[in-house]
Amino acid sequence: MENQLLSEKIVITKPSITDLEIDYVNDAIRNGWGPKCYDYINRFEKEFAEYEGSSYALATSSCTGAIHLALMALGVKAGDEVIIPDITWIASVEPVLYIGAKPVMVDVLPDTWCIDPAKVQAAISPKTKAIIVVHVYGNLVDMDYIMEIAKKHSLVVLEDAAEGLGSEINGQKAGSIGDAGVFSFHGTKTISTGEGGMIVTNNADVYQRAKILNDHGRDPKIGKTFWMAEYGYKYKMSNLQAAMGCAQIERADDLVSRKREVFSWYQEELRNFPGILNPQIEGTKNSYWMPTLIVDKPFDRENLFLFMKENNIDSRPFFYPLSSLPMFERKSTNVVAYDIHARGINLPSHHDLKRSDVIYICQIIRKFFQEFSL
Ligand SMILES: *Cc1c(COP(=O)(O)O)cnc(C)c1O
Repeated sequence: MENQLLSEKIVITKPSITDLEIDYVNDAIRNGWGPKCYDYINRFEKEFAEYEGSSYALATSSCTGAIHLALMALGVKAGDEVIIPDITWIASVEPVLYIGAKPVMVDVLPDTWCIDPAKVQAAISPKTKAIIVVHVYGNLVDMDYIMEIAKKHSLVVLEDAAEGLGSEINGQKAGSIGDAGVFSFHGTKTISTGEGGMIVTNNADVYQRAKILNDHGRDPKIGKTFWMAEYGYKYKMSNLQAAMGCAQIERADDLVSRKREVFSWYQEELRNFPGILNPQIEGTKNSYWMPTLIVDKPFDRENLFLFMKENNIDSRPFFYPLSSLPMFERKSTNVVAYDIHARGINLPSHHDLKRSDVIYICQIIRKFFQEFSL
């Protein structure tokens, strides 16, 4: 344990960079200009669509931008209601606000920490247009149930799979099941381009619409240079970023297996600890983007973060319920969300993390609970 104090801080996560990423990015910066300036973007989109088993993929500058474009392409408009889980990263809901639509925060399930389909059903009103589901920390949403509800009420489903890359439901990739799916390649995510995002869909109209909106509203069918019939947006990925993405998607299976291996080390080290880790529900494969521990009893989270920091370990709080943030109306009736967030923390996981790091992290967690709390 003493050695760890002298060594580097254990970061929560970081990308895995090999010669492959460096070679592709070098090639892009040397040669990827003029007639080749879109080559890596086209290739990344094609390979990502293949990985997902989706018909179309559109690269973006972030997942936040991807959500904004996808919601508009799916027909969400000002005044519409959009159902969303109360537990997610803020970026899932912000684009709903950009459009002037109204987010309706719904509680999550105590086992998967993902949106509760029965409560989605109960939240539907005549104004509901869309459901955003989030595969939080790699855990999986009950997509069969959600798609059935959506079909019955003619709603569109956007799958926010920013944290679910590599997770699967009955062999189908997370993100490929809804009307559209979105991903993030931020430096914290399982595959990274520094910053970046992707939309996938099987619907040609949704894809075309998102592509036009992402090009300032330029419709190639009009065929008159610099003539726009409507205004749009610009959330584009650069060829340099896409070069890194091409390397990462080639390595996706390896990156996901390492996430699963790191998670198995936590399972082993915390097997008698009074708490639960990310579940893997029958019929699903969890890619365990972020190993998350929910402790059985309430405890002082801030003190634990401080203690971990003093011991050179980076950790993160489980997301606050969106509806507990000051810009939204508080919805304490989402009892599961309000209960589990206060007992949950995220633990480090990345490709270069060693088993000895995980052993050390778990020793520090146990020490905290012995000395200070439980
Ligand atoms: C990271 C993340 C996003 C946003 O991704 P960016 O690429 O940073 O815009 C959206 N939704 C969820 C669930 C995320 O974890």
